[in-house]
Amino acid sequence: MMKLAVIGSNMIDVISYTDIIPVAGETREVKDFAINCGGKGANQAIAAAKLGADVLMLTTIGDDVFGKMVLENFNAYQVDTKYVRTAKGSSNGIATILVDESSQNRILINKGANTYLTAVDVEAAATDLQQCALCILQLEIELNTVYAAIEFANKHQIPVLLNPAPAIADLDLDMACKCDFFVPNETELNIITGLPVESEAEIKKAALTLVDRGLKNVIVTMGSRGSLWVNKEHCEHVPAYAVQAVDTTGAGDAFIGCFAAVYVKTKDILQAIQQATLFAALSVTKTGTQGSYPTKQEFTLALD
Ligand code: ADP
Repeated sequence: MMKLAVIGSNMIDVISYTDIIPVAGETREVKDFAINCGGKGANQAIAAAKLGADVLMLTTIGDDVFGKMVLENFNAYQVDTKYVRTAKGSSNGIATILVDESSQNRILINKGANTYLTAVDVEAAATDLQQCALCILQLEIELNTVYAAIEFANKHQIPVLLNPAPAIADLDLDMACKCDFFVPNETELNIITGLPVESEAEIKKAALTLVDRGLKNVIVTMGSRGSLWVNKEHCEHVPAYAVQAVDTTGAGDAFIGCFAAVYVKTKDILQAIQQATLFAALSVTKTGTQGSYPTKQEFTLALD
């Protein structure tokens, strides 16, 4: 089986479901509350693992009860945790999430242990990483570690998918050019290019500037508008499925995890995007992040 590597973050999501976002100084009672495992790296790893992909996770967990929860969760989904390292004395990464009545989310993160994942961790996993067919990265870990991982992957001819999230305006685009897939959402595309992304025409224009800059495959996820894949030869809009969205938290991670799982098996980019679109659509019909991702059985049923 083709193995996937995720070099990235893990978080504990502390989620409040609320109709009202409090103003400064105000205390409000929320409708519902949950504590779940999340973080962009972990979400993407678990999305792929739920589909049966063989996933190697490189991440740093807190030296606390939350770190233990994260490790147990990876094990429950058969993610390879050989390189999940406890950062001594640190707290686990935490995301405080507010989900409002229109299912929009507002997220505050504290990276915690995630800041201790370094190039040394990447080198330590060299032998296993070289067996991987794709390496997935996001920006919830230190930027230096992301760049070191891209350089490492390039040196060993391992294809890279970079999800530039959360976005930074000064992302090194020469580094992004070294990645096979660059997968931002519209907001991230706007921050990275500085260009407007209101209409689909504007999104296409912004994505094409990245292709002109030398990026190989740019896949922009656009929420209920679906996604856009552009490279030198292709420009494909894949529409989203019309579903009743309950909670869109982690939809982008669902999309990326599924895309990666299908891509390493088929090497067919369009098919991977189409299946990722369905997987992500199913995920927004349920609350939560990883728990909202369909099982392999549910997904296979929906595919038919
Ligand atoms: P992110 O979570 O990074 O903001 P998006 O919101 O763009 O990512 O969602 C990723 C993908 O999930 C979209 O490209 C789409 O396929 C799917 N998706 C997201 N929101 C919806 C929705 N309301 N209805 C159907 N599909 C959705």
